Amino acid sequence: MPRLSEVIAALENLWPAERAESWDAVGTVAGDPDQEVTRVLFAVDPVRETVDEAVQLDADLLVTHHPLYLRGTTTVAASTSKGRVVHDLIKNDVALHVAHTNADKADPGVSDALAGALGLRVLRPLVPDRDDPAGRRGLGRVCELDAPETLREFAARAAASLPATAQGIRVAGDPDARIRTVAVSGGSGDSLFDDVRAAGVDAFLTADLRHHPVSEARAHSPLALIDAAHWATEQPWCQLAAAQLEEISERHGWNLRVHVSTTVTDPWTAHAASTHPTH
Ligand SMILES: [Zn+2]
Repeated sequence: MPRLSEVIAALENLWPAERAESWDAVGTVAGDPDQEVTRVLFAVDPVRETVDEAVQLDADLLVTHHPLYLRGTTTVAASTSKGRVVHDLIKNDVALHVAHTNADKADPGVSDALAGALGLRVLRPLVPDRDDPAGRRGLGRVCELDAPETLREFAARAAASLPATAQGIRVAGDPDARIRTVAVSGGSGDSLFDDVRAAGVDAFLTADLRHHPVSEARAHSPLALIDAAHWATEQPWCQLAAAQLEEISERHGWNLRVHVSTTVTDPWTAHAASTHPTH
């Protein structure tokens, strides 16, 4: 049975902390390095619901994509929601480890998992890492479909293949536009518009898109934009990461039980289609 320090070393090997963005907060948040690990849960968000799931599973380690404290804190009092998470983790001997932008940029990384879920073939990173001579690591991925689809069909593909959320899929563009090449980026991708435009793709699928960036991007080019819910674009990474850890566990004879959270932690909980007669 491996100790937490051994499992963390394996995770650090997959997603080295030094490859995270300078503003990020990755690595081990809670946990005793000498504690033994038999069960691991992967989830997007370190929130009450996923910690409860880890406790119910009797997991020893929760690995999340999002940091618990991105900007630090001066209190972990259980009267705060994040402090409650810290208390629940420690009281139940559940360690917490975070792989965020270091997992985004990894090979394979968050956007590879997203592309895989969508059935896209990855061609290259959207923003390649300068220090990767192989040119495989970086933010986002430029992908292609085996055969062109209309934007309407591609949106239906996203709705059918990404984990379900209340938001569903939002689309900006001509529904009959022909889509062959697609840039994807798990999570909030509207800072990548310049790179997407430079890549010359037909569509960009990401999350958290806002009025002005989308409006301006649409005015500049026929680029189609697809907004899937933030959680839905990153949850496929949990499946990928769990498979990677399972493979490591087999290689080392660790016999880890590796789980993926099925709890939808996207904060939007309902969607109502407009019925007001605007035209
Ligand atoms: Zn995210």
